[in-house]
Amino acid sequence: MPIVFVGHGSPMNAIEKNEFSIKWNNIGKQLPVPKLILCISAHWETEGTHITAMKNPRTIYDFYGFPEELYKINYPAPGSPERADEIKKATAETEVLLDNQWGLDHGCWSVLYHMYPKANIPVLQLSLDHTKPPEYHYNLAKQLSSLRDQKVLIIGSGNMVHNLRMIDWNDEAFDWALEFDNKLTGLIKNRDHSPLINYSSLGEAAKLSIPTNEHYLPLLYILALQEDNEQIHFFNERVTLGSISMRGVIIGGER
Ligand code: ZN
Repeated sequence: MPIVFVGHGSPMNAIEKNEFSIKWNNIGKQLPVPKLILCISAHWETEGTHITAMKNPRTIYDFYGFPEELYKINYPAPGSPERADEIKKATAETEVLLDNQWGLDHGCWSVLYHMYPKANIPVLQLSLDHTKPPEYHYNLAKQLSSLRDQKVLIIGSGNMVHNLRMIDWNDEAFDWALEFDNKLTGLIKNRDHSPLINYSSLGEAAKLSIPTNEHYLPLLYILALQEDNEQIHFFNERVTLGSISMRGVIIGGER
């Protein structure tokens, strides 16, 4: 299976038919049909790494002050307690804990709602351990590589550039946001992962683009799963609202 990073942006993308959500829908149609989806979302931060293990994960409305319509969306994809347990066992070097409380947060469902509107493919979420450094996430992801051969679609959902304090409703991208988005793109194209893991050494634009790293870390999971000579394809290449890069990446698969 290919691996995918999606820039999810505003929760409104869940109900809007716009350039981003239309592209997500097209990607869902183009990718090989997965047996299972494993989503690493920016919006599930925990102490320790957890994986959802309930039969029927609930749709979580983890945002405030949005139109009523958004709170009515339900994404009833099943979970898979069996597969969660298998993944826990497969990641032997890292303790992964089974979770029965979470569900699907909007980092996950706002995208899947467009990619797989039928909600008929089981979905698991893997949490981000916020106590750990970037290398931890990169190394943990490497242990998930066998899943790709088992028709599991691994999706990282965040935003490469994400600064909510600097949002510009005029939708004009800041120079530093464009610069950093460009910088990341070049490093990804060159498969130069070391500076991407040590992003904090990438200067002033990095500080503004990644004020907190929860939206950036899902990208490291996808990069870690890249194998030699796999094709890299970018989509939704736009910085929106001044400081949010919607850029996504598909690695591998037949394109
Ligand atoms: Zn988000």
